[in-house]
Amino acid sequence: MTDKIYRVNMNELSFKIENVPEEWKGLGGRGFTSTVVASEVDPECHPLGPNNKLVFAPGLLSGTTAVNSGRNSLGAKSPLTGAIKESNVGGTIAGILSKLGVKALIVEGIPKEDKFYQLHVTKNNVEFIEVPELVGKDNYYVLDSMIEKYNKKVAVMSIARPGEMKMVTANISVKDPQGKLRSFGRGGLGAVMGSKKIKCITVDSEKYKEVTLANPQKFKEASKKYTNTLNNNYATSTGLPSFGTAGSVNIINGAGALPSKNFLTGTTENAEFLCGETLAETIKKRDGKTTHGCHAGCIIQCSQVYNDKNGEYLTSGFEFETIWAFGAHLGIKDLDQIAKIDALMDDLGIDSIEIGATLGLAVEAGLIEYGDGEKAYDIIANDIALGTPLGRIIGGGAGNLGKLYGLVRVAVVKNQSMPAYDPRAIKGIGITYATTPMGADHTAGFTVPFNLSKADNRVDPLKKEGQVALSRNVQIQMAMVDSIGMCSFVGRPMMDGPECLLALVDMINARFDSKLTVDSWKNLGKTILKTEKAFNQKAGLTNADDRLPEFMRYEPIPPHNTVWDFTSEEIDEFWNF
Ligand code: SF4
Repeated sequence: MTDKIYRVNMNELSFKIENVPEEWKGLGGRGFTSTVVASEVDPECHPLGPNNKLVFAPGLLSGTTAVNSGRNSLGAKSPLTGAIKESNVGGTIAGILSKLGVKALIVEGIPKEDKFYQLHVTKNNVEFIEVPELVGKDNYYVLDSMIEKYNKKVAVMSIARPGEMKMVTANISVKDPQGKLRSFGRGGLGAVMGSKKIKCITVDSEKYKEVTLANPQKFKEASKKYTNTLNNNYATSTGLPSFGTAGSVNIINGAGALPSKNFLTGTTENAEFLCGETLAETIKKRDGKTTHGCHAGCIIQCSQVYNDKNGEYLTSGFEFETIWAFGAHLGIKDLDQIAKIDALMDDLGIDSIEIGATLGLAVEAGLIEYGDGEKAYDIIANDIALGTPLGRIIGGGAGNLGKLYGLVRVAVVKNQSMPAYDPRAIKGIGITYATTPMGADHTAGFTVPFNLSKADNRVDPLKKEGQVALSRNVQIQMAMVDSIGMCSFVGRPMMDGPECLLALVDMINARFDSKLTVDSWKNLGKTILKTEKAFNQKAGLTNADDRLPEFMRYEPIPPHNTVWDFTSEEIDEFWNF
């Protein structure tokens, strides 16, 4: 089976199936989406206008039996940052697209009529179905309707009311194997889907075939070696499954790098209520699940099922960054209240980091008080969901709130909010926030384990030395990982030694009969970063956009009392490769 590009034109309500150009055949995931966005999207276009495109592409190893390979990338020009965006997600979409032989689904144009559509993708066909009955409905309603309509045999991607309203904090939500939701988060790609008047995309799994492997035996051998590296790494075998990503609460708080009360201090007094240990204990008491995979074949299982006090399902995929944003940054102590807000944000399809970061900043604007979980819930449920003026302000993200209220202490880069790691106390992640083409994004180059490691090659988080090279290496590695559909945590065993990297190269070669080497794969990672940077430059961004907010240069963060002290020249060194 030769993979094809499915290209949808919303202007004409038409589609065509194309061969994959020779030069794109070795690309997958982020490599594919960023290449297509850079070559087909006018960098100067309005992100919500007719010339932006949505490019969905599974990773090179998605659909295979390789563990943790079920991530799907999505690329477009971001309405939040004005820059290129790649976002990736688990769920069921990557496996189904790969098994249908879809290398990528590219959506372009805007319909002539003001109507919302469902796109139903099947083998060799795309149907355009008007869905007036789904307009104004949120994700779980849409998801349940589609599961009922297709008897569970579909992947579903949808937007809720904020996406319809084109809020720049809107995500695209994706069905997971249990019929719950995951998100293409950060950067407002839900608003792009809303601009194209697509309420949901369903992909039929009925006629798919297992993906073909050029050399099944070699694939099996390499896959076994790769799985062993995950099983032998502490983070992927023990840390993440025990406490989820919330295990980071105590680690980052202990490092004095957990931004609290809008980046005033690097520690929170709420840690004991918010930490992974408390989360795991609470889940166990209520018969939830401390381990859970966001896609089939995940053996790390950092996700969980969190029940309420009555043992009823409340949320899953309850991430450290969400707990940080609402718990430390906005100061809510009650994990149940944050879980309730998390579930609401899933249903509304809004980015939990951006919304939490904006609400924490909103304290400085006098719109909410620290720790007021009831008010936070109310703003999301009754303002953002309904699109009131306050809802539009908070739903516009922290950068926009800061401009509207004349605030100076606004922790954004390229208008995207910083997540849960203060760059004054972990300087490697600051270089990532500054330089990644994505805007402040920890996943683009997660230096934190290297900065906080106890190993000899640790890069001291409080000093400048070694941070630029560290962030560069990790960002290149992440571009590689994002291209093959692997979960970002696979980056952890990649730190341990060459085994994981070599096994992954062998798997890619066994899948495609290719001649990839570690070096050629690294070169691909570098090319992806440079392609993204070049798009941003053509979109009008300059090196001046690769900077952290000025207040971090003169406001030391306790307990280390360090400031962000990199010069512009030192930051720009990042791109010398
Ligand atoms: S480790 Fe976590 S993020 Fe990665 S695939 Fe599993 S559940 Fe998803």
